[in-house]
Amino acid sequence: MAELDLPTIPHWIDGAPTASRSGRTAPVFNPATGVVAANVALADQTETDAAIASARRGFEEWSTWSVAKRQGVLFAFRELLNARKPELAAIITAEHGKVLPDAMGEILRGQEVVELATGFPHLIKGAYSENASSGIDVYSLKQPLGVVGIISPFNFPAMVPLWFAPVAIAAGNAVVLKPSEKDPSAALWLAGLWKEAGLPDGAFTVLQGDKLAVDGLLNSPVVESISFVGSTPIAQYIYETAARNGKRVQALGGAKNHMLVLPDADLDLVADQAVNAGYGAAGERCMAISVVLAVEPVADELIAKISDRIAKLTVGNGAQTGDAEPDMGPLISDQHRQKVAGYVDIAEADGATIVVDGRSLVVDGHEDGFFFGPTLIDGLPTTSRAYTEEIFGPVLSIVRVESFDEGVALINSGEFGNGTAIFTNDGGAARRFQSEVQVGMIGINVPIPVPVAYHSFGGWKKSLFGDAKAYGVHGFDFFTREKAVTARWLDPATHGGINLGFPQNT
Ligand code: NAD
Repeated sequence: MAELDLPTIPHWIDGAPTASRSGRTAPVFNPATGVVAANVALADQTETDAAIASARRGFEEWSTWSVAKRQGVLFAFRELLNARKPELAAIITAEHGKVLPDAMGEILRGQEVVELATGFPHLIKGAYSENASSGIDVYSLKQPLGVVGIISPFNFPAMVPLWFAPVAIAAGNAVVLKPSEKDPSAALWLAGLWKEAGLPDGAFTVLQGDKLAVDGLLNSPVVESISFVGSTPIAQYIYETAARNGKRVQALGGAKNHMLVLPDADLDLVADQAVNAGYGAAGERCMAISVVLAVEPVADELIAKISDRIAKLTVGNGAQTGDAEPDMGPLISDQHRQKVAGYVDIAEADGATIVVDGRSLVVDGHEDGFFFGPTLIDGLPTTSRAYTEEIFGPVLSIVRVESFDEGVALINSGEFGNGTAIFTNDGGAARRFQSEVQVGMIGINVPIPVPVAYHSFGGWKKSLFGDAKAYGVHGFDFFTREKAVTARWLDPATHGGINLGFPQNT
């Protein structure tokens, strides 16, 4: 239902904001105040088709541009993003709720991928084998796929699109981005920036919407690939549907990340990092630490140290700056807040101790905001749904184990395999950990091991469906397809004529 007198956030089609005529909208909240700030358009099939057709036209233009000209657009985009990122951070905070420095942090991690993509000529050049057979050369070409779909989650409205779009675009593809309907404005801002950087119309298209738009992308014969990030059940649906329709697909899902703490670890370092990784962005990170596996006898001391630190955390409106700047903002919605509270209820009912309880937190002056205080749980049974399922909120659980082996076995028994960390001063233990743990991204005394842009991002098991991770070499492989050419030529009899000027790239 549209809230009256509020702006409706449009699509971005043919290089311009495009009002929706579907008659379908969803409210977009400011989570710190609980107030509906705007409505967002929800595409119907006609609008979905129009967005895809525009992207196809964009592809036909963009893919013919020379490598040198395409690289110029990437560099311009990088410069614009770098200069204007405070604008984007403010947009993210207003719709997502995360504190401004954290919004800036996600932009910087996205910018890293833009910087990687500026070097794309090196990553998409093929290989050449001279005289593979007598008088025959064999070489490979890496060509763009065409129109590629990106479907992103609410928790990183800029970074996740930037994990994929710069790589896809650099490789010569046209993107249709379907952002989360909960915080859709960052995608539009990025679209404006691509235009300013000189990208042809259609090559970056934003389709606002819900399942209808997603299904439109999944079922379109024009869309060649899908890059999805979101919760595991939807990731699995996307993977299965896209694959059935013959598309290339990478679908990154949910997580339940454990931190294994050995008794020799520096417990002050561990406590700092557990608080950072458990409560940063109010726990709404796929790489957040959710469970601390404390190898005894350290659990009591660690709980005391973490509790001390929680007592000093401030929770409030993420848009506030200066002395009023909080450590943690609200959750994305009231519905999500109730879900997170429900998991704490489950833990309690299953016999855990709620050491610090954030369920009833109210922020002065923001009584209607979707706040949830940092919560610490001890003695969580590993049979509890609060242990096995993703909570996606500021809830850190301590599980006491007797040995390294028991800790690794627990991590490996879970259905997710996104991130994990070990804290120890024992190099041999860390080395065994990296070898034995069934997880895609591992931190050694590093709690949130998000790989740099030139290494790829992705988990194992139900945290990633498909074969290609995001960005890095995987990203360029995903967004290109290879042709192998076997060629035999007679001796050349022609030449390029005489030109004494220094060779230039145009
Ligand atoms: P979500 O799965 O609800 O939504 C993700 C996207 O899918 C959105 O664009 C949404 O509009 C669309 N969608 C939702 N329901 C759909 C349906 N039934 N059919 C088709 N499309 C649908 O996820 P979210 O709540 O926006 O994001 C949080 C989740 O994302 C968490 O589970 C988190 O772990 C995960 N995540 C994972 C990673 C990773 O790298 N593995 C990164 C960020 C977030």
